[in-house]
Amino acid sequence: MKTALVTGASRGIGAQIVRKLAGLGWRVAFTYLASEEAAKGLAKETGALAIRCDARNEQEIAAATETVLHAFRHVDALVHNAGTAWTGLLQDMPTETWDDLFSLHVKGAFLHTRALLPSMISRQQGSILYITSMWGEVGASMEVGYSACKAALMGMMKGLAKEVGPSGIRVNCVSPGVIDTDMMKGYSPEDKQALVEETPLGRLGKAEDVAQAVSFLLSDDAAFITGQTLSVNGGMVI
Ligand code: NDP
Repeated sequence: MKTALVTGASRGIGAQIVRKLAGLGWRVAFTYLASEEAAKGLAKETGALAIRCDARNEQEIAAATETVLHAFRHVDALVHNAGTAWTGLLQDMPTETWDDLFSLHVKGAFLHTRALLPSMISRQQGSILYITSMWGEVGASMEVGYSACKAALMGMMKGLAKEVGPSGIRVNCVSPGVIDTDMMKGYSPEDKQALVEETPLGRLGKAEDVAQAVSFLLSDDAAFITGQTLSVNGGMVI
């Protein structure tokens, strides 16, 4: 049975990835930070293993990795999805907020990846996916730090794909556009309508749209795909 660890999956895109993979017969573990009730509910619904683990914390990641490897024996796929956004002018951004964003998105990806790589390398197989953003591809005003984090993940993905390809491990990114999750809750109905109008496919994305792309890239159908970013944005960025 294929096994996966999905980070930051109590809600939104991550939760949908867990549902998708579990529905396809994968054994799934996922991490969360604060939404304990939602995490428990998802675990009950899908049979997945919920682990409280802050993706900014090296010790917690080491412990979570041990728990997953103990329960599953091996992990075929890592999806680093945990993420938050910060909106505002760069000149107003506190240093701690910059550090916090990089700690979650980039250092979190590094720590989770480093923790699982030895077991993937010893089996000469595995798949690693980072959830990035169209803003990492083209940059967003008022989300400069967030754009920088997502661009950093794309660079990391490319380097790692070259480094671990000879060990049979594929590394890719899925880059969502506007996806209607809690991350969008600050947007008014008018703001959302304006985004719909900017999107060639004429709607906001759903978490399920991203989960479909993730399950494809993790599947054997994508066996010769590595070092790539698959954009799921309805054509908003082409
Ligand atoms: P949500 O805000 O809906 O969910 C975020 C998830 O991340 C929650 O499960 C949350 O857990 C978890 N999380 C937050 N901080 C931590 C942490 N320190 N450690 C572990 N888990 C954490 O976001 P989305 O589902 O919308 O976003 C998921 C990913 O997709 C992010 O990386 C985001 O940048 C990216 N993305 C989203 C887009 C969108 O439009 N929604 C567009 C492009 C990219 P808890 O609630 O338990 O704290």
